[in-house]
Formats: sequence, C-alpha cells, structure tokens
Amino acid sequence: MSRKLDIELLVIILVIAVSAGHIGNFLGGFERPNLFWLGYVQAVAIDAALAVCAYRMRLKSQRAASLAGWLFFCGVSAILNAAYYHGAGASVPLAALLGAWAPAAGALLGWLKSTSDAHAERQAKAAEARAAKRAQRAEESEVMPAPVLVPSFTCEGCGYEAASQNALNAHRRWCAGSNGRERAAAAVLQEGRLK
Ligand SMILES: [Zn+2]
Repeated sequence: MSRKLDIELLVIILVIAVSAGHIGNFLGGFERPNLFWLGYVQAVAIDAALAVCAYRMRLKSQRAASLAGWLFFCGVSAILNAAYYHGAGASVPLAALLGAWAPAAGALLGWLKSTSDAHAERQAKAAEARAAKRAQRAEESEVMPAPVLVPSFTCEGCGYEAASQNALNAHRRWCAGSNGRERAAAAVLQEGRLK
C-alpha cells in the first residue's frame, strides 16, 4: 500500500457515487416503497463491477472475462444513467450524453489506475531483485573473504617475532651484532685449536 494520496482511487469513488446515486434513484422506483434502498445497492454493485473489470483488464489470464464484464457493465450503467436523466426531462441525445460520462470515466480511471499500479508493482519487484542480488553478493564475500595480508615482523636470522617494524629493526641490529660476535668468537676458538 502506498502512503501517498491515491487520487485515481478517490476520483473513481466519486464517479461511482455520482453514477450510483442516479442509477439507484431510477432503479429504486421499481422496488416496493419500503425497499427503495435496494435500487442503490444494485447501482453500487453495477458501478463497482465496472471499475473492477476495468482494473482487472491488465491481467492477461483474466483479460477476456474482464473485457466482457467491462462492456456489459459499461452498457448497463450508461443506459440506466441515461434513463434517469431522460426521466428527469432531458431529451434523448442529452440523456445519452449525460448518462455516458460517468461509466466512461469510471472505466477509464479504473484502467489508468490498473496500469499505474502495474508500473509501481514492476518497480517494486525490480527494487526487490536488486536488494536480493546485493544481499547475495554480501553473503558471497562473507563466505570467501578477500585475503588479508597480516604484516609479520619476523627476524630472518633467528625466527624471533617482533611486535612492530621498529622493534624488528632494533632486534635485527642486535641479532646481527650477536651473530657477528658469536661467529667472531668461534673463529677465534678454531684458530686457537689449529695452532
Ligand atoms: Zn634475530
């Protein structure tokens, strides 16, 4: 449900109210006086069916049935509207014109709303697909994390692991020095033995 004001739906309801008011008044005359209100129930049913058929025409699987209903209820609504105006004193051409506008408006608005709703549905679906793809990509990168190079500060001479590059540099100097001293001492000892 969109939170923004649905102008199309508001106008459809307005058109149905106008049309149903006329048709109901006309059909009520055929009912017993205590059942006059039944005319309005029928009128709302006819105009609502018209709007629903117009709205459903975008669905391929229901197109034939929707078109049949749309034509039928448009015709019924227009004729009954015209009969109301004719009964109120309008000439036949004028009654036909006045009777036609409300069903025509209801049918067109229902169709318009249907296509704009379909458009919104497609956009929502596309956004959903994009979000799903993003989530999938995030999951994949979680499963196979990019190799992270952990810096190590290991002395090549003795395998000592320093905490930082600076500490390693200091150790290297010391390590090389001590090795050098050891080597020098060993050389001195060896030389002594040879003598
Ligand atoms: Zn070392």
